[in-house]
Amino acid sequence: MNKVFTSLALLLSSCLCSFADDVVSSPDGRLKVSVEYDKGSLALAASYDGRPVLLPSALGLKTTFGSYGDKIKSEPVRRMSEVLNIDYKLDRIKQSAVKKSANFLSVSLETSDGRPFVLEVVAEDNALAFRYVLLKKGETVGIRVEEELTEFRFPDGTTTFLSPQSDPMIGWKRTKPSYEEEYSTDRPMNEKSQYGRGYVFPCLFKIPAADKQPNIWALLSETGVDSRYCASHISDFKDGAYRIAYPMPEENNGDGSAIPGIALPAATPWRTLAVGTSPAVVAEQTITWDVVKPLFETTKNYDYGCGTWSWILWQDNSINMKDSKTFVDLAQSMGYKFVLIDSFWDRNIGRDGMRELAAYAAERGVKLFVWYSSSGYWNDIVQSPTNIMDRAISRKAEMKWLNELGVAGIKVDFFGGDKQETMRLYEDILSDANDHGLMVVFHGATLPRGWERMYPNYVGSEAVLASENLIFNQHYCDDEARITTLHPFIRNAVGCMEFGGSFMNKRMNRGNDGGNYRRTTDVFELAQAVLFQNPIQFFALAPNNLTDAPKVCMDFLRAVPTTWDETRIIDGYPGKYIVLARRHADKWYVAAVNAEKTPLSLNLNLEDFFGAGATVSLYSDDPKSGDVSLVSQKLPTKKGKSLKVSLPTGGGLVIVGLQK
Ligand code: CA
Repeated sequence: MNKVFTSLALLLSSCLCSFADDVVSSPDGRLKVSVEYDKGSLALAASYDGRPVLLPSALGLKTTFGSYGDKIKSEPVRRMSEVLNIDYKLDRIKQSAVKKSANFLSVSLETSDGRPFVLEVVAEDNALAFRYVLLKKGETVGIRVEEELTEFRFPDGTTTFLSPQSDPMIGWKRTKPSYEEEYSTDRPMNEKSQYGRGYVFPCLFKIPAADKQPNIWALLSETGVDSRYCASHISDFKDGAYRIAYPMPEENNGDGSAIPGIALPAATPWRTLAVGTSPAVVAEQTITWDVVKPLFETTKNYDYGCGTWSWILWQDNSINMKDSKTFVDLAQSMGYKFVLIDSFWDRNIGRDGMRELAAYAAERGVKLFVWYSSSGYWNDIVQSPTNIMDRAISRKAEMKWLNELGVAGIKVDFFGGDKQETMRLYEDILSDANDHGLMVVFHGATLPRGWERMYPNYVGSEAVLASENLIFNQHYCDDEARITTLHPFIRNAVGCMEFGGSFMNKRMNRGNDGGNYRRTTDVFELAQAVLFQNPIQFFALAPNNLTDAPKVCMDFLRAVPTTWDETRIIDGYPGKYIVLARRHADKWYVAAVNAEKTPLSLNLNLEDFFGAGATVSLYSDDPKSGDVSLVSQKLPTKKGKSLKVSLPTGGGLVIVGLQK
């Protein structure tokens, strides 16, 4: 009966369609993406295991050259399908080599007045991506995209894991938006966002289980944004859908256009949706990098690893020669490659001093990362140096000098938002920096959108409520466990994340005797070093930790890798707990943390990683003292038998061992 009803409904719905839908399925057939041409307007729908993920959602753009998608002439003038062989190496994301196939569909369409455009869709086993390609017609080349019709309609009952877009030109020195708002979890779709400005990417959705089937999870984001477009976000939920939204006109202090200008023919960024039956599966996807290409090659051999930075615990006053040398010494004694010299170095160390500092560091096998403000004229930042990175003439001269000093890279902070003008600045900085052999870290910044693959000297971005907030406000210390369980599933799943954490201080100040209280255990902080991924990690260590932190912790932080060959999420729920495994060369690191109010009992079957009966190093919270405990642990010998562990609230676990 049910089946008859379904096929009747299908028949009925296909009669209403003006034309037949085009469907592209994932190689395993579980994800189906359909392009629909109902009544001359374009829509996209997706299902997984036959269950709806995206209900038919409008597609299209409104431009100064007319609209695309809402009035199409006919069914596609041409359809092209092919199998994509995705095969690349990338040493800066959660896995070092990606090899898979995907199905690709391109449908060539015409608007009712004859303007050609193409919709491109990629279907992988657990992800889809789509973009628009607008073709030339007549003399017109330069057009502006005024608005997108693109929407995302999730089934009723879907809950959300979202971070609001901020109002423009608010916050410290009028530097927002900068992707530094809190993520809420498991909220209904029809809530108003905090600022009424929608939400930033990435956006996680949970589509509730039907009957006894598993929930379906979907992670929505964007990739392939370069100087030729703005960065987008999604609107508040309205009329059953979220829509692609462009930057706010007030961003960047009102300078520059809020809408992108493109030259025909041109492609928009890809919008991506990772889909699967667990949050782990969607977090493991690489669609962000699968559909983009390197924008330039490099001849440089960029090197990654760990670093120290005085600013996080010692703050502005520490940017002087003496304290900076102390942190070079700390880097040396940790065996770290880098030290980050933060704002005001130009004033307090000076240019001659920086030459001396760089030489001092070089003698100790350490290289400098040097801080700059990106501004410029788009906020009130006085943290210097300012007015260097915002224009090519001063930027290139500065980079030449940095290169002569043997500096490894720059950290550029306080960008003006998501407008195309700002995307151009990011790209120009990356391009010029590569010419001078410099790596680049962005802070006060937008989400990277495929940049790890697009720009070979790109290292990572903040775009998160990062470790500085633990210094600023107790609330963020109280929330550290929760956010640590979120980011591997959401923010860090689509891009390198420069968090700057793993504190060994119990108190968040210079003397380890005042300021906010850390609420997590030492093992938790070790686990965070594995859970958070960035190819260069500036850990929040201070010289006192050489004597006041447990030796086993410091030894762990000396040896922990920052690049990974594989990442697997074993278990977890965003906001509650996570168990994740990353492999570097022949070693697996399994890291877990607990953000729940009660102890977390885990039965871990780790045979796939270490083999049954293997001996591993197990870092855990001693149940009696709460201190770190490191033991050599033999895993169960019997196949299928699991290791039982318990994690206290705010506690962690790390297991390190050789790959089986
Ligand atoms: Ca920041």
